[in-house]
Amino acid sequence: MAELRNIVVLTGAGISAESGIDTFRDAGGLWDKHRVEDVATPQGYERDPALVQRFYDARREAVQKVAPNPAHEALARLDREWEGGLLIVTQNVDDLHERAGASRVVHMHGELLSALCPICERRHRWTGPLIDRPECPSCEARSLRPDVVWFGEMPYQMDRIYAALRSAHLFVSIGTSGAVYPAAGFVSDARELGMKTLELNLERSEGSHWFHESREGPAGKLVPEWVDELLGTG
Ligand SMILES: [Zn+2]
Repeated sequence: MAELRNIVVLTGAGISAESGIDTFRDAGGLWDKHRVEDVATPQGYERDPALVQRFYDARREAVQKVAPNPAHEALARLDREWEGGLLIVTQNVDDLHERAGASRVVHMHGELLSALCPICERRHRWTGPLIDRPECPSCEARSLRPDVVWFGEMPYQMDRIYAALRSAHLFVSIGTSGAVYPAAGFVSDARELGMKTLELNLERSEGSHWFHESREGPAGKLVPEWVDELLGTG
C-alpha cells in the first residue's frame, strides 16, 4: 500500500445516469433524438444557434432537478478522507460531484451551469436559459454560449490532467464507455506510466481489456464498495 498515494479517477455518463440524467451515447439516449453534428459542434451552433441553445437550456434546467447518487457521495467521501493526491476528472457537464461535496474535480468537457462569452472569454455561473441572448455580465455582448466542449474543440485543463496522471499510482475509470478521446486514451497512458488500473462500469466497455481489473455493476453499488475498500472501512 506504500505505493498507493496518488489517484486519478475518471468519471463518465454512467455515474450520472443513475441520478436520472440522460446519457448521450446509450441506445435511447440524447443522440437518438438529436444529431451530434447539430447540437455538439461549432458548425452546428453557427448554422442554428437557437436549436443549440434550446438543447442546452433544457439540459441545464434538467440537471438542477436531479440529485447526486451514492456513487457521487462515495467519491466526495474519498475526496474528504484521502490524504494522498486525488483528481476526479469528469467528462460529465453536470455538477453532481460538487453537489455531493467533492472539490478536487476537473470538468474536461465543461459545465452546463456555466456560460462562456466568446467576446471577452470570461465564464459566468449560469442557471437560466441562454436562448433569449442575455448580456454577458462582464462585457455586455449578447454572445453567451454554453460552456461545454463540443466535438472538434479542445477539452479543458489537459495539462493539469496529464500532470496528475504522471504522478498517479492508480487510475480508476467509472461509468465511461471508453469511446470518446482523449479520455479513452487515459488508461493506455496510465498503463505506459506503470500504474494500476481499475474499471467500474455497468458492463464491459470497449476499453475493458486495457484495465488490470474490471468490475461490472451499477456505479451506485460498485463505487461505495471500492471507496470502503480503499479507506479500509469495508
Ligand atoms: Zn463578455
